Amino acid sequence: LVRARNVHKSFDQLEVLRGIDLDVAPGEVVVILGPSGSGKSTFLRCINRLETINQGSIEVDGEQIGYSFRKGKLVQLSNHAVALQRRKIGMVFQQFNLYPHMTSLQNIIEAPVGIHGESRKDATENARRLLERVGLSAKADNYPRQLSGGQQQRVAIARALAIKPKLMLFDEPTSALDPELVGEVLATMRDLANQGLTMIVVTHEIGFAREAADRVVFMDGGKVVEQGKPEDVLVNPQHLRTRSFLSRFI
Ligand code: ATP
Ligand code: MG
Repeated sequence: LVRARNVHKSFDQLEVLRGIDLDVAPGEVVVILGPSGSGKSTFLRCINRLETINQGSIEVDGEQIGYSFRKGKLVQLSNHAVALQRRKIGMVFQQFNLYPHMTSLQNIIEAPVGIHGESRKDATENARRLLERVGLSAKADNYPRQLSGGQQQRVAIARALAIKPKLMLFDEPTSALDPELVGEVLATMRDLANQGLTMIVVTHEIGFAREAADRVVFMDGGKVVEQGKPEDVLVNPQHLRTRSFLSRFI
């Protein structure tokens, strides 16, 4: 579903991604680990084109993100075409970024109705199903400030799912939460993983990686240093840098 090849990204002189290759199969759950500044967030942002890349290619669902080939030449897509591509990709951030003046339900139907022209009735029905899926049916009419951090993040997950994405990107979704609220968000993500959603998750939650990931990718210095099954990478890392990173969690 995702095919990244030789992805390079620089901010001015700073080379942040230095040739990333990554494939993600449909239904696969990939957890990306790596030290601060290794380029994890930047890579996720390149996948849904919140950042443009300097070299290489990223395909999602068979389409080159941000470009198309016309008569053998790479042509930059219009903003409208990029918006259509982005519709295949849901993203959940560390900060939940819910609209404070909208209820849970309104937050969830905002993009389907406002951007994608779905009818309010269909979007509302779907939103109620999604709230049920993240265990928050009772909170449909509450505003973000009336919800705990964990509940807000689960609404944010439901909102990302509302556009019916083929791929979900999570960037440290539990890092801003109080420790006692982390579990409920990880449980929701584990449910989604079990339901066959394709997910790329940047997290420092090694337990989640061990239990929910099909594959663990370790990034450092803008490169993929090592990847494999969680039981291999987490238990028996081959590279010194992976080993020293993981030693912090034991
Ligand atoms: P963390 O674990 O702390 O979230 P990360 O692996 O997600 O780290 P990135 O956020 O991708 O790291 O950042 C990688 C590098 O790129 C950092 O040195 C950061 O300062 C730099 N960087 C990220 N975004 C920008 C930007 N918009 N402009 C300039 N530099 C940036
Ligand atoms: Mg980051």
